[in-house]
Amino acid sequence: MHCPRDRSQGKPVKLLTLKSLLAPPALEQLNPQETYQFCESADCPVVYFSTVGDTFT
Ligand SMILES: [Zn+2]
Repeated sequence: MHCPRDRSQGKPVKLLTLKSLLAPPALEQLNPQETYQFCESADCPVVYFSTVGDTFT
């Protein structure tokens, strides 16, 4: 799974981890059925993204 913005390889991140990191407005967009990944690129505005293309900056 690659970042929808810069196409770098994402790292799988657990939903539980995301929940502890995201602020409430972003939390409401989380879908428990979805798989989320972390974009490691420092130049990329995207921090987390889902397999359906939702992004968190
Ligand atoms: Zn990225």
